[in-house]
Amino acid sequence: MVMSKIEILYTKAESNSEFVLLYKQPSVLVGRTDVVSVTPWLAPIVWVKTFDPTLINFIYKQQNITIATTVFALGKYTRFLKDFLESAEQYYFVGFRVHYYLFTDQPEAVPDVKLSEEHQLTVRKVPSMDRWQDISMGRMGILEKLTKSELDNDTDYIFCLDVDTKFYGPWGAETLGRLVGVIHPWFYDYKRTKFQYERRPESQAFIPVEEGDYYYTAAAFGGTVQEVYKLTKTCREQQSIDAAKSIEAIWHEESHLNKYLLYNKPSKLLSPEYLWRHIDIRRKHVKMIRLSHVAKNNAEVRLNN
Ligand code: UDP
Ligand code: MN
Repeated sequence: MVMSKIEILYTKAESNSEFVLLYKQPSVLVGRTDVVSVTPWLAPIVWVKTFDPTLINFIYKQQNITIATTVFALGKYTRFLKDFLESAEQYYFVGFRVHYYLFTDQPEAVPDVKLSEEHQLTVRKVPSMDRWQDISMGRMGILEKLTKSELDNDTDYIFCLDVDTKFYGPWGAETLGRLVGVIHPWFYDYKRTKFQYERRPESQAFIPVEEGDYYYTAAAFGGTVQEVYKLTKTCREQQSIDAAKSIEAIWHEESHLNKYLLYNKPSKLLSPEYLWRHIDIRRKHVKMIRLSHVAKNNAEVRLNN
């Protein structure tokens, strides 16, 4: 069989009937040098061309895993569902078992999107809430309950995603890990003193100015069901302690998530390719946009401002 240098092929070995994956030899010396692809605690930071998607999907495919994926659409945010789900069907864990859990106050507004054979969708009705901050923060408690009830089931991994987003490129098994954080697309090149962490010591989300690794987005995070249960439980508890003291962290659940991930280091980080600012905005290090926020008029879609 003739193979070009970069071609990746399945081939049937002569000696037995097993399929073997042939792929380009990994290099010890040549790789991306324009971005950092590992944290100081040796967790990978995932960027295009730091991994071989065919190889990594092939490896995980043999494990027969299920990936739960949660999304919330309350109030006017149901308008984002169609694009979110249709684009996910095109790019998100194609060929893997995915179970979407969609939480909404209007099940009748969920669009009828054709799902691939391995993907399924469960709609769960949740009460409406008056403040967008409460909807956003309230996700932690709902996710805590979901992950707790899923602990004994056969779900392996879970991702929790914002609905005002759309997929533009592949999101596959390279994102899987024990505890996975996504680097926020606006602050990846900021000094940590400038991160918008919660700076008031009265809040449970407080991070002193001389601490911090990265600024993580709350619009996408994941990991094993067990780890996401611990994360969401902790954030929900910390939010409740704040609420009892009439304090609300500057960026709501995102502030609590950042506190959690500072002291519970993620085992894998996803680069801003995995949640970009907007499809029309380009930066030289971000060579591929896999998931991006879509434009939204906050004053129009949110219930309060
Ligand atoms: N959300 C919702 N309805 C609302 C406000 C928020 O369903 O009225 C959910 C939705 O999933 C959204 C997420 O909470 O993606 C986070 O809110 P938002 O996207 O407004 O926060 P931002 O990304 O702008 O910080
Ligand atoms: Mn959002």
